[in-house]
Amino acid sequence: MKISAFATRSPRSPLAPFSVERREPGPLDVLIENLFCGVCHSDIHQARDEWGGSIFPMVPGHEIVGKVIAVGDNVSKWKIGDVVGVGVIVDSCRVCPPCMSGEEVYCQKGPSYTYNSHEQDGKTPTFGGYSTHVTVNQDYVLRIPQGMQAERAAPLMCAGITTYSPLRHWTVREAQSVAIVGLGGLGHLGLKFAKAMGAEVTVLSHSPSKQGDSERLGADDFVVTSSPEAFRANHERFDFILDTVSAKHDYDSYLGLLKMDGTMALVGIPVPGSIRPQSLIDRRRSLVGSSAGGIRETQEMLDFSAKHGIGADVEKIPIQKVNEAFERTLRSDVKYRFVIDISSLK
Ligand code: NAP
Ligand code: ZN
Ligand code: ZN
Repeated sequence: MKISAFATRSPRSPLAPFSVERREPGPLDVLIENLFCGVCHSDIHQARDEWGGSIFPMVPGHEIVGKVIAVGDNVSKWKIGDVVGVGVIVDSCRVCPPCMSGEEVYCQKGPSYTYNSHEQDGKTPTFGGYSTHVTVNQDYVLRIPQGMQAERAAPLMCAGITTYSPLRHWTVREAQSVAIVGLGGLGHLGLKFAKAMGAEVTVLSHSPSKQGDSERLGADDFVVTSSPEAFRANHERFDFILDTVSAKHDYDSYLGLLKMDGTMALVGIPVPGSIRPQSLIDRRRSLVGSSAGGIRETQEMLDFSAKHGIGADVEKIPIQKVNEAFERTLRSDVKYRFVIDISSLK
């Protein structure tokens, strides 16, 4: 079936109206009418081919919330009318060790990402949520808890799970001192999750204007990172640092803020930088990285969010403003996630 979307045709083209062919739901597929889709900084990196290997034309979008409008004959998990989410992956091999243990995003064959990727056949391109509908296998669809606002839930599908997963994996807990680097889409949710897990949370930001918001969002402290003095004053202060920064920055300075045996987890994906081995060696520190979590953990994160009243702070936009939203995101001028109202595309 032909559906409406916004796509970019090259790393330098703006997003513009486009038509996508979606498959009719197979026996195990659900057809989802998209309601909202978040604008992740990864959409910008990939639309501009900053990571290399981008596939064009590209329909970005992997923070989808929508309504099930049709189900295949053998679908057991979903029914028409369910409000559901789709995140960064739409399929994986299902048989490798990570898939078998519910960590599908780390699939050894390579998951089928929601866009800029291929279905498991290795050749059919995937197109994301800047579109009116998606067809997805039932196992890669998430339940949006009742009572959660759809537009505030959409960013949980990537920004939410990408911050929740490392906080859980490295067991952030009460009485720990945690820093979130970068108060953007990922950072503001990382802050909310780390607080809900009981940690004392400091935001490290290069934007002094975000101090008030940082406090409103629950941070215990706010440090502006533009002066070397900030790094001296907070030397060896944190047990855990979650680095969500999208632009190149000096990892060594941030590693110096970790206590002995502390861990810094990278989730932001700027152009590659370097580190000095001594930044780790001198205090037996760990530098780790983390992707969005698997399907089971994504559902756990949504349920945790419902329990703790966590959702994204969003600015709703019609899809016609998405190019402007990309530019504003690049200027760190977003509070704290743009979410496309897909009704503007119909
Ligand atoms: P975002 O909303 O643009 O937030 C990034 C934040 O980084 C900005 O708000 C800003 O915070 C800080 N920042 C930007 N430029 C900076 C600079 N030059 N120096 C220091 N800080 C700077 O982006 P996002 O959607 O949260 O995504 C963040 C990164 O995570 C992106 O690289 C994205 O691709 C990546 N990501 C990774 C995964 C994964 O699987 N690991 C998943 C999703 C996204 P302040 O103004 O507070 O400094
Ligand atoms: Zn994302
Ligand atoms: Zn696999």
